[in-house]
Amino acid sequence: KKEQLELLSTVESVTKDGTHMRLSANISSVKELDMAVKYGALGVGLFRTEFLYMDRSTFPSEDEQFEVYRQVVQKMGGRSTVIRTLDIGGDKQLDYFPLPQEDNPFLGFRAIRISLERQELFQTQLTAILRASAYGKTKIMYPMISSVEEVRQANQILRRAMADLDARGIPYDADIPVGVMIEIPAAVVIADLLAEESDFFSIGTNDLVQYVLAVDRMNEQIAHMYHPYHPAILRMLRTIVEAARHAKIPVSVCGEMAGDERSIPLWLGLGVHDLSMSIQSLLRVKHRILNTTAAEAKSAAQQCYKLATSTEIEKLLTDFNESGR
Ligand code: PEP
Ligand code: MG
Repeated sequence: KKEQLELLSTVESVTKDGTHMRLSANISSVKELDMAVKYGALGVGLFRTEFLYMDRSTFPSEDEQFEVYRQVVQKMGGRSTVIRTLDIGGDKQLDYFPLPQEDNPFLGFRAIRISLERQELFQTQLTAILRASAYGKTKIMYPMISSVEEVRQANQILRRAMADLDARGIPYDADIPVGVMIEIPAAVVIADLLAEESDFFSIGTNDLVQYVLAVDRMNEQIAHMYHPYHPAILRMLRTIVEAARHAKIPVSVCGEMAGDERSIPLWLGLGVHDLSMSIQSLLRVKHRILNTTAAEAKSAAQQCYKLATSTEIEKLLTDFNESGR
C-alpha cells in the first residue's frame, strides 16, 4: 500500500473532472525537506520555525537562522516556502526564555504577542527571513493574529528590518508576500478587515477549532468534543473564504484538517485549492483527490451546510469518502 502510494509522488493532484489541488508540506526542520520533495510537495505551506529555537541554550542568531531558512528556500527551488514567525507559548516552551506561569497558556503570552513585545527578537527573525528571500520564493506568515493593529505593528518591524538590510547593502525580496494565520475566532469575524492588510490567508484549523469550541486541543478528557466538522467551523470557513475572495487574496489551509481526506469536499465546495499538511498525509490525500469527482464533492459539501450537528456532517463526509474507494 505504501509502495503503491509512493508511485503517486510525481502524479499531479487533480480530481477526476479536472480540478487541480495544490498540496504543500508542513515542516518543522530542514531534515523533513527531503521527504517533502520526495513525496511531491509543491511547496512548503507552513515552516514551523519554533523548532529552531528549541533544544538549545540561547536564541539563534540572525546568521544561524538565515542559514536554515536559506537552505529550505533554496531546496524548494521555484516552489514557495511560507515561513511562519515564532509561535512559542501555549504548549511550547524554551528553557532559556522562561515564560510566566499562566493559568491559561493557550489564552496567554504566545506567538505574535511575544514577538510584538520582544521586538528585537522578532526583528532578528524577520531580518533572517528577508535575507533568505533573496534565494528563492519566500513568504512571511504571522501566527495568532487577533487584530488589525497586530498586523500593522508587525509590518512596522518588518519595514525596520528592511531598512536595516538596505543600510547594510544586503539583498532581499522587497515584494515578499506577508500573510496571516486565521486561527482565532476574532480573526474570522474581521477577516474582511484583515484581508485589506494581508497578501494571503492561511487557515490554522488546529487552533481555530480549539478556540471556537472552547476545547483545549491538549486536554484528553475533552478530546471527544474537539470537532473540526462542527457547523460553527464550517460557517467560519465560509466567512474566511468569502473575505479573501472579496479582497482577491489567496487562501490556503495548513491545519490538520487539510490532512484528513474526508475534508476534501469542503475545500472543493468552498473553492479552496491550496492545502498544506504533514508529510505523512500528502500521498493519502492526493490518492483521494485523484478518485474524487469535484462536482459530486461540491454537492456533498452543500449538503453539509444544511446539517445541524457535527455527527451528521462527519458521517456524511465519511460516507462520501468511503463511497469513492
Ligand atoms: C494550526 O493552529 O492549525 C496550525 C497549523 O498551527 P499549529 O498547529 O502550529 O498551532
Ligand atoms: Mg496554530
